[in-house]
Amino acid sequence: AQKENFLLAVEGLTVSFDGFKAVDDLSFYLDPKEIRVIIGPNGAGKTTVLDLICGKTRATAGSIRFGGKELTKMKEHQIVHAGVGRKFQNPSVFEDLTVFENLEVSYSQGHTVMGALAFKRDAAVVEAVESIAETIFLSDQLNEPAGLLSHGQKQWLEIGMLLIQKPDLLMLDEPVAGMSVAERKKTAELLRVITRDHTVLVIEHDMQFVGDIADRVTVMHQGKVLSEGSIEHVKQDPKVIEVYLGH
Ligand code: ADP
Repeated sequence: AQKENFLLAVEGLTVSFDGFKAVDDLSFYLDPKEIRVIIGPNGAGKTTVLDLICGKTRATAGSIRFGGKELTKMKEHQIVHAGVGRKFQNPSVFEDLTVFENLEVSYSQGHTVMGALAFKRDAAVVEAVESIAETIFLSDQLNEPAGLLSHGQKQWLEIGMLLIQKPDLLMLDEPVAGMSVAERKKTAELLRVITRDHTVLVIEHDMQFVGDIADRVTVMHQGKVLSEGSIEHVKQDPKVIEVYLGH
C-alpha cells in the first residue's frame, strides 16, 4: 500500500520458456511522467519485459500493477484499454493511407466500441489529428500517403498513432533505430514533449540517445536488474562495466 504513487509497479516478475528464465524475479517501479530506459546486452530479457507488460506473453510468477489494476490477469486488448500503448521496433503504418487517415483510424479505434466501422469524421477528430501531427513534426505531410514518408517520419507517425489514443504509459522498442542524427535529435525533443502528459518506457541501445532522454536507466542482465539509476550512475557501476566489457 506504500507504493500507490507509482504508475507502474513490477514485482517478482518471472517467465520461463522451457525451463529457461528469460525474466527472473524482476522488480522495478515507474513514477508518473518519467522516461525510463531499459538497456542491457542482447538476450537480457528487455523485449520480454515489454511483452509481459502488454499481455503478449504470460508471466510464470509475479505482478504488474498499473494504476489500480493487475495487468497479469488481463487480456491484451484490456491492457490497451487500461492505458498502455506499445510500439514495436519496425513501424507498421498503413502505407496507402495518408498521414491524416492513419491518425484518424487510430483515433477511431481508441474512441468507439466498434472501431473504424462505426466512425464518423467530426471537428473533434480533425482537431485531435492536427494537434498530434504538429507534435510529431508532420503537419506539412497530412495529405501525403504514409508510404512516401522517410523511415524516421514513419516511426514518428506510429508514435502519433499511439498518442492519439491517450495512453498513460507508452512503451517504445528502439525508437531511433535506423534514424539519421537529425531525426534522433528531434525524437529526443518529441519524447520530452510527450512526458508532459505520459510516462514512457523505452528499450534503447544508442547510449548517446539514452543520455539525452533518460530520467533513470534500468540495466538488465540475464533476466534480472543489474543496476538502476541515472545514466552517470549506471555507467560507473562496476557490475555494468564488467558485463559490457565481457561482450
Ligand atoms: P533482449 O530484448 O534483451 O535482447 P529478449 O527478451 O528478446 O532479450 O530475450 C531474452 C531471452 O529469452 C533470449 O534468450 C530469448 O532467446 C528468449 N526468448 C524470448 N522469447 C522467447 C520465446 N517466446 N520462446 C523461447 N525463448 C524466448
